[in-house]
Amino acid sequence: MNVRDNLRRELKGSGHNMTTSRVLVCQKLADTGPVTMRELVESLGKEVDRATVYRIISLFEELGIVRRIPIGWKHKLELSDKFIHHHHHAHCLTCRNIITLPEDSQLELAVERTASSHHFKVTDHHIELHGYCSECQKKLS
Ligand SMILES: [Zn+2]
Ligand SMILES: [Zn+2]
Repeated sequence: MNVRDNLRRELKGSGHNMTTSRVLVCQKLADTGPVTMRELVESLGKEVDRATVYRIISLFEELGIVRRIPIGWKHKLELSDKFIHHHHHAHCLTCRNIITLPEDSQLELAVERTASSHHFKVTDHHIELHGYCSECQKKLS
């Protein structure tokens, strides 16, 4: 299922319209991966004005289309698992890069097992690793 169809389903399902701006913001997030609000606003340039981007992101967060990835005091924005394949992140403390870690079935099972042993039903989870990427490790040593 492509981004556009997915977005239509999410918006229609909650009684919202597909607008050109909403499609542009969603497509941009799908193309770029995790971005800061500033990067998103800049990359959309003249296509969508700043206030509109803010409004759309606020709506997308409300509808669970976008989620925030915390990085220190700040955060980046990313499409939720409804749009992109489930994965985790590793944040480099030096260069601030976010590395996308592929899904690991053993890890997913461990999460489920831990939760169910506490009679907890998981609907969503985020795992964020913090440390140093391979490039920065070279510079540190
Ligand atoms: Zn790094
Ligand atoms: Zn996971």
